[in-house]
Amino acid sequence: MFCLFYNKSKMKKIVVIGCGVAGMSATMYAIKNGYNVDIYEKNNYIGGRCFSFFDEKKYNTLKKICGKNVDKNLFYLDNGQHLISGAYTYFFELLDWIGTKSLIINKNKLKVNFIDTEFDRKYIVDFKNIFKLLSTKYITAKDKINLIYFFIYLLKNENKLAKHTILDVCKKTKLNDFCIEKIISPIVVSIMNSAINIAPASLFANTIKIILSDRKNGLILTYCKKNFADLFAPFISKINENCNLFLNTKVTDFFVENNICKGIILSDGSVHLADKVIATIPPNDYSKIKKTCENSQHFLNSAILSAYIWTGENLNLNHEYNAIIGTYIDWIFDMNAQNNDEKTLYQYRITTSNFNKFNNKISENFKEIAGNIKEIIEAELEIIFKKKIKLYAIHIINQPAATPLITMQNNKLRPNSKTSIQNLYIAGDWTNTGLPACIESAAMSGYLAVKELK
Ligand SMILES: Cc1cc2nc3c(=O)[nH]c(=O)nc-3n(C[C@H](O)[C@H](O)[C@H](O)COP(=O)(O)OP(=O)(O)OC[C@H]3O[C@@H](n4cnc5c(N)ncnc54)[C@H](O)[C@@H]3O)c2cc1C
Repeated sequence: MFCLFYNKSKMKKIVVIGCGVAGMSATMYAIKNGYNVDIYEKNNYIGGRCFSFFDEKKYNTLKKICGKNVDKNLFYLDNGQHLISGAYTYFFELLDWIGTKSLIINKNKLKVNFIDTEFDRKYIVDFKNIFKLLSTKYITAKDKINLIYFFIYLLKNENKLAKHTILDVCKKTKLNDFCIEKIISPIVVSIMNSAINIAPASLFANTIKIILSDRKNGLILTYCKKNFADLFAPFISKINENCNLFLNTKVTDFFVENNICKGIILSDGSVHLADKVIATIPPNDYSKIKKTCENSQHFLNSAILSAYIWTGENLNLNHEYNAIIGTYIDWIFDMNAQNNDEKTLYQYRITTSNFNKFNNKISENFKEIAGNIKEIIEAELEIIFKKKIKLYAIHIINQPAATPLITMQNNKLRPNSKTSIQNLYIAGDWTNTGLPACIESAAMSGYLAVKELK
């Protein structure tokens, strides 16, 4: 951990805009380096895109169907299934500091149950070690060799990747359609929330490198025991001494004189002075404040659709992570897979990453799609489980702006923390961290921004 200076008598005031992962991370590093921090967050909660809520309506409905003893915890929902890799170093440093690292469940090395609806077959891909991986059913010896070559090519040709998408590398290494569509594409969509024909190979290579460099934890997928609101809640008491957190407070402009940022301006017109300002807001919000700078206008969003379903029957998935091939549904998460107790109510989480493909294909009209989603999910569940699944309830969360879409073109335009305005810095998952737009990128960007403060 770097240390800039620590001088209590000359504590400098930093304003952090936004209290998502990047904002919390920037705050932590700023406090660790002896700064005084004021955080301004437009929402009435912290966590940004990792937010949680209680679905009271569904809880009350399901109590009527299943009886009063229904597990209330099944109705505390996150806005999506946030998967965390064991190699998320910066994010774990943040949780450690907040004091909630113990809420993260470490699963053993990643084991994914693939359900291929097209060929009507299931197979486990076990990432425990290379031998387990190579013993995967239905992949021919030739395809296995090509896959190994694909990953070696990615890792060994850093300087040749700059101009290539992941699909280019697939073609270069002669992967066939089976490997591209059924192995590489699901991995890429989950890691990068983007399609292989637009996602930069260099970012994918960086991610694989980080995962492989941490031999102990890299391939461990973790998830939160409760929900993300619980992970972040103690942040507020943790920062009490050195910080002021202003919720429900939207920053509308930077206060800049002679190209030096001297503070921020709020919607009521009031000016709040600071020595340095770190904006940790997504590109859309950023471009509303600062229309033409920091390339924020080049970032479209990638959507994620999540759905929670409650049913009276055990779907017998037997695995936490189920990758579904041949449907719009990419994943079904079953967090109770190892618990065989008979229950009256089962909850499953469904995710469609890179939901843009869905939006574009079905209709341009968002409301129209929203009306269809429930029926589409029900129809796809019937395909996956080969029978009609009676759903007690379904909660659909469509996040059109889940992550900034990182493409070949805009990857080069991701801004560094230091801006063209003196004393104004930026952070956030979309900034130049070398990672896909994810939780770790957000946490790392907070570190990078504070590192730039002088
Ligand atoms: C459904 C879903 C699933 C995801 N799944 C995963 C996953 O499995 N793994 C993973 O690693 N990542 C995942 N992500 C991505 C991850 O959530 C984000 O990359 C990360 O949370 C971004 O953090 P951030 O701090 O950069 O931005 P944000 O979380 O967007 O934080 C920005 C904050 O700034 C505030 N703000 C904006 N404008 C202003 C303003 N003018 N004034 C004051 N405050 C303002 C916002 O309210 C917000 O709180 C997922 C995202 C979604 C939506």
